[in-house]
Amino acid sequence: NDVLASIEANDGSVGAYLTLNAEDALAQAEAADERRAAGEKLPMLGIPVAIKDLLNVKGQPCTCSSKILEGYTAPYDATVIAKLREAGAILLGRVNMDEFAMGSSTENAALGKTSNPWNLDHVPGGSSGGSAACVAADEAIASLGSDTGGSIRQPAAFCGCVGVKPTYGRVSRFGLTAFASSLDQIGPITKTVKDSAILMEAICGHDPMDSSSIEMDVPAFGEKLTADTSLAGMKLGLPKEYFVEGMDPEVEQSVRDAVEHCRNLGAEIVDVSLPNAKYAIAVYYIIATAEASANLARFDGIRYGRRIDGKDPADLYGKTRSAGFGPEVKRRIILGTYVLSSGYYDAYYKKAQKVRTLIRNDFTEAFKQCDAILAPVTPTPAYKKGDKTDDPLKMYLDDILTTPINLAGNCALSLPCGFASNGLPIGLQIIGDAFQEDTILKVGHAYE
Ligand code: GLN
Repeated sequence: NDVLASIEANDGSVGAYLTLNAEDALAQAEAADERRAAGEKLPMLGIPVAIKDLLNVKGQPCTCSSKILEGYTAPYDATVIAKLREAGAILLGRVNMDEFAMGSSTENAALGKTSNPWNLDHVPGGSSGGSAACVAADEAIASLGSDTGGSIRQPAAFCGCVGVKPTYGRVSRFGLTAFASSLDQIGPITKTVKDSAILMEAICGHDPMDSSSIEMDVPAFGEKLTADTSLAGMKLGLPKEYFVEGMDPEVEQSVRDAVEHCRNLGAEIVDVSLPNAKYAIAVYYIIATAEASANLARFDGIRYGRRIDGKDPADLYGKTRSAGFGPEVKRRIILGTYVLSSGYYDAYYKKAQKVRTLIRNDFTEAFKQCDAILAPVTPTPAYKKGDKTDDPLKMYLDDILTTPINLAGNCALSLPCGFASNGLPIGLQIIGDAFQEDTILKVGHAYE
């Protein structure tokens, strides 16, 4: 009820939701009360969760905030959705995002406009902008987002929330509309690290429907977070390359203060180096666009959503895709097919894959010297709407601190560590080695 009241009061200006299942949610909440009274103990019983509009929920729309998917109804539940249901969660509604998760400000959304609840003139971040904005505005207790190059961590940072990008393979991608399959992971956005840990426990685990999901036990992430907030015996790395040129001094100061705080909690701070991180943007925008161009080929007007008839199939595809995809999606499909085309494949795609290995090796080396790495999430706090929309490259460059982790496949968490003088939140990034989510959750929990 409280959450629905917040939606009623705030969502007119925040604009997080694309679809709201208010009646169903209320009925589920009442049922959850009864189940709890009857002694049922489930980790998320009755907790309202918002879902990024690229996860399939049976019987509901799944638009990816794209016109091309208008009218499509999901015929099945994504694995993470089935797992949330099992844990007792209430699926409250579907929230806005950049079209097909391509963007950093939710301004590429074709079906809605979302604002940063801290200051409505500013962007909420993206691509999971709706997922972060709804949690920040108390319009959900938690949400699911997806992170291909920062899309959970960056909006969480911009909206003062906690967000986790799990290790590649930790969470099943079955039922997630693919953007770049070798980079995508689903993860939680919440107000606290403990809440993220509870969600992680619910959604992680092997799934035979996703061949890239790993057969590995899921730790009791939530229970492991105790009242003991000492970081004694832990080594935390500080990568000098992550304090990039042009970084907002207030962001740098907040993160350096957070590092000092961790030192005071008993951690030893060591310098580490990630020398190839500077290539991450170039590598990411080759690999992500290449994979996207292949993944988005399925939206042909025949199989899903919207169709514009043509005189023959090629004409139908062309007309549907021209009208259905927005400008950023088209830009990426063209870039992606270009880097994969014969003659350019070796020069771009293959080279990018080699540099990806170097980026991954940097992390392997760094984690020989420390248990986790501390860094900023973004070079600046949330900027004003419209500031970067006419220059896509400007927007791409801001992904410099988040994309290396997706390319390497390890995990990272974003949590609030302060405010800029204009009142907007600043995020701290805690980066962990592959499958070391419990380590980054522990550091985050100790810090907050
Ligand atoms: N901002 C990045 C991009 O535009 C990351 C998006 C994401 O993680 N889905 O591709």
